[in-house]
Amino acid sequence: MRPPYLLLDVDGVLIPFPAADGSTPATHTCHDVVPEGRNADNPVTVWLNPEHSRLLLDVISTGLFTPVWCTSWRQDAATLIGPLLGLPDLPYVDLPRLQITTSQPDGYLWKRDHVDGWLGDIPAVWIDDDFSGLDHEWAVERTTKGSATLLIQPDPDLGLVPDHLTLVSAWARQPLTARAA
Ligand SMILES: [Mg+2]
Repeated sequence: MRPPYLLLDVDGVLIPFPAADGSTPATHTCHDVVPEGRNADNPVTVWLNPEHSRLLLDVISTGLFTPVWCTSWRQDAATLIGPLLGLPDLPYVDLPRLQITTSQPDGYLWKRDHVDGWLGDIPAVWIDDDFSGLDHEWAVERTTKGSATLLIQPDPDLGLVPDHLTLVSAWARQPLTARAA
């Protein structure tokens, strides 16, 4: 049986939202990156927590998941963000470029329709800060149909914390029948 996917968002998860005064968390280190198609003299500043490197590597190295970027950073997550965290070269979901002004244009996460088809019937843990109630219902429905699905939703002001990855590891070690959305 194929291992579950581990879908990983970047903004609001690895890069928490800045504080109201624009400051970034003391736990995170700032880096300037130049996403594909952007001028080198106009970089984007990101802030990453070196501690996330160890936490993610611990989960990835279990071999219990197929980790995949699932973020509007698309290939830039693989080429820019991953290396800054010392992560191996991970594939990414090539999300569609929708003309949207909100992350939940139809009441649920804009990524979901594409991800749903992309996953097929493979079980998945999906870490994203932007799920709605409808996404959680989708996860329950998928699980009921035999494709165990766990949504992990960090607070975007805090981003990913160790407890999230503890949950991910615990889920993967459960018998298939015990996995609940
Ligand atoms: Mg996000």
